[in-house]
Amino acid sequence: MSIPIYRFGIFDNCEGLIHGLSMREGGVSEEAFGSLNLGLDVGDSDENVKKNFELFCGEMSADVDKLCVAFQQHTDNIVQIDKGAGFGSPYDAVDGFVTNVSGIPLMVRFADCQGVFLFDPVKLVIGAVHSGWRGNVKNIIGKAVSIMVSEYECSPDDVLAAVSPSLGPCCAEFTDPVSELPEQMHKYINGRNVDLWACAYDQLCDAGILDEHIEIARECTKCNNAKYFSYRGGNKKSGHMGGIIQLI
Ligand SMILES: [Zn+2]
Repeated sequence: MSIPIYRFGIFDNCEGLIHGLSMREGGVSEEAFGSLNLGLDVGDSDENVKKNFELFCGEMSADVDKLCVAFQQHTDNIVQIDKGAGFGSPYDAVDGFVTNVSGIPLMVRFADCQGVFLFDPVKLVIGAVHSGWRGNVKNIIGKAVSIMVSEYECSPDDVLAAVSPSLGPCCAEFTDPVSELPEQMHKYINGRNVDLWACAYDQLCDAGILDEHIEIARECTKCNNAKYFSYRGGNKKSGHMGGIIQLI
């Protein structure tokens, strides 16, 4: 069975880069986790999840034994990677990775949250970030870019950025967003809904990324729940998709 892969146009034709996102199809899990669930801690069987990782990594030509993956906890913790830990050794309480080492697949996982992928084709540095609304509040996106700049001498002008399918302004509904979100995010509120795509775009621009270097998928995971896992669309029981970025 072939595994459909979502690819960002902005990374097309980038030499030296592997990237791609899983969708729902192509795995062995069932029901709410059907079928390519990459969630480590969502209630699916360990055996099925391991098989799904092997299938997706195989399709991506990514080495599962060097894969960097984490138990993400909506932190702004970003780890600089120089050695791949492997699927069997997930990082704890980490929501982002940055590296300039080739051959190490960086993965973040998401169901309604944003997977944000960064690539500097000049300095050959990559980043992968998991950012839900709590990540937007902490601006983990801006933090990842600033690590690329301060630790890897990247120029933000060179960095390409892409944001995965995620909860759109149509479905990112809060109980009381004015009280739940800090003031700097109030401009994204419309009634009880929040435009987290616009927030991510602004955070990338504020970090110095050029407009023409930003791709926002603008596909809502909840509205497209047959194609993408959605925590909200799945009645709070859902698998996770994963996105990989790797220097060759
Ligand atoms: Zn929607």
